[in-house]
Amino acid sequence: MHPIYVTLGNIPIWRRNKLDAKQLLGYLPILTAAKKDLVREVFHKSLRHLLEPIISLKDGVDLLVNNENFWFYPRVSTIIADWPEAASFCLVYKSSNSNLPCHFCLVKKNDLANTDLSSDDIILRTHDEMCKHLESHTQTSVCIESVPNFFWELP
Ligand SMILES: [Zn+2]
Repeated sequence: MHPIYVTLGNIPIWRRNKLDAKQLLGYLPILTAAKKDLVREVFHKSLRHLLEPIISLKDGVDLLVNNENFWFYPRVSTIIADWPEAASFCLVYKSSNSNLPCHFCLVKKNDLANTDLSSDDIILRTHDEMCKHLESHTQTSVCIESVPNFFWELP
């Protein structure tokens, strides 16, 4: 299973990975099955189940810090993961033969190390664009799996 930890974005980065600055939220299953789309779908449904208590707090929550109550609204802002995990979260093809292997942008595999690309050459994988590709059944053109991504629904 993948352990999933949560921390707060306003804790300094150097402090965030210390034991008392993060909390184990739960575990995501590592599944294997012949139907890969089913595995991906279960992964994203498990993410929803795990994060629902955090993202459903519409009125915020009181947080006790150094004996002082702070009212805050939790949001999922950053997922820290290695490259294969990021591919799972973003539903990008994991194959090393993928023409668009980056989970962050649509730069072609052969151009990923090209430092001469201009910003016009780099198209980001936004939630809206990837969702549109899935809805219009053109997901293979951007190398994403045929599964709705849980994160597309988050504000
Ligand atoms: Zn990229």
